[in-house]
Amino acid sequence: MENVKELDPEIYSLIKQEEKRQADKIRLIASENYVSNAILETTGCILTNKYSEGYAGKRYYEGQQFIDQVEQLAIKRAKDLFGAEHANVQPYSGSPANIATYLAFLKPGDTILGMALPHGGHLTHGAKVSISGRYFDAQSYELDATTGLINYDTIRLKALAVRPKIIIAGHSAYPRILDFKKFREIADEVNALLMVDMAHFAGLVAGGVHPSPVPYADVVTTTTHKSLRGPRGAMILCKARHAQAIDKAVFPGVQGGPHDNTTAAIAVALKEAASDSFKKYTAQVIKNAKILAESLMAMGFTLITNGTDNHLMLVDLTNKNISGKTAAKALDKAGIVVNYNAVPFDKRKPFDPSGIRIGTPAVTSRGFKENEMLLISTLIEKVISDPENENFLTKTAEEVQKLCSHFPAPGLEHLH
Ligand SMILES: *Cc1c(COP(=O)(O)O)cnc(C)c1O
Repeated sequence: MENVKELDPEIYSLIKQEEKRQADKIRLIASENYVSNAILETTGCILTNKYSEGYAGKRYYEGQQFIDQVEQLAIKRAKDLFGAEHANVQPYSGSPANIATYLAFLKPGDTILGMALPHGGHLTHGAKVSISGRYFDAQSYELDATTGLINYDTIRLKALAVRPKIIIAGHSAYPRILDFKKFREIADEVNALLMVDMAHFAGLVAGGVHPSPVPYADVVTTTTHKSLRGPRGAMILCKARHAQAIDKAVFPGVQGGPHDNTTAAIAVALKEAASDSFKKYTAQVIKNAKILAESLMAMGFTLITNGTDNHLMLVDLTNKNISGKTAAKALDKAGIVVNYNAVPFDKRKPFDPSGIRIGTPAVTSRGFKENEMLLISTLIEKVISDPENENFLTKTAEEVQKLCSHFPAPGLEHLH
């Protein structure tokens, strides 16, 4: 990064510090990952210079000889990898992809039904502070109070009562696999469209280690930068009969020109995600999550739904007499990065809730396996039982840095 260094030493220095942070810490934020050097190169390439409003063959600017091919490759790879009838690879990120889906099918005031935010739904699934909750009649379903699991009877009754135009399945903090067939049956019974937001688990679906929502859903939205390990971006996969409505909603409905450098990087990510090594990676993501979950439970931690089937777990710290925020801050000082998170039916406030969320996509990308998971669980336990012992936290951070130095992360090999 010699040019940034010379032109803008302030930003250069901050990037270098963040680079070191990503290399030296155990990153357990469930939505984060490490992309490959190939994706970093593509994201930072000259495709950022091009404008290409429209779609391949129907652009509003000339000079699309190569951009059209880039976008068509990304679309083909998305359709092949996920078995989708249609793919739109232009959404800037997960939130605009969801908003575009609503624009495609809804009028202001129409009813949508999604998982409640404090129960693991996303802001764009109808939270009151989001455009999805302000412009639509946003209804929500909650998890079962005793099991912490999705209760399909509850969703069905709610759907029958509120008659939504769209039912949204998908989440940011639910550690189990959704029953897409049941969601489909409920949607059919109330004549609603089924939208699945697989932002978190798209990589697991691509790797074949998680059921696919694509055969069941009218529309599947996803980010490309979480478990799928691509650039910041998103895609919408849908049935052929919805293709035109979705494309029109993304452009010109919600967006202007697509980010062609991102589109190219999505194509590269989809090629990586179709490989055998990515399949192995996703299997290890789940294996790591299960081992970490089991080890934490063996040490007396309460996990929502008593474990995990995917890449993440939600730890309820109520019995440890520490809030999620205090725990997350202490862990960060010790070199272990998680986020504080509400648990279902949380009695504490969203800014300082009862839980932490832990995910394994990023650490698995740097090669952590079973042994490292056991070590992490021990470190988490020690930090949470002694969160104010600054000496101990600093010493742990040094230990973490040493461990990380043996596992060069993708894109950061030059630091090791
Ligand atoms: C992360 C996420 C999104 C939004 O993605 P952004 O790229 O941050 O806008 C949407 N839905 C779900 C379920 C998510 O987890």
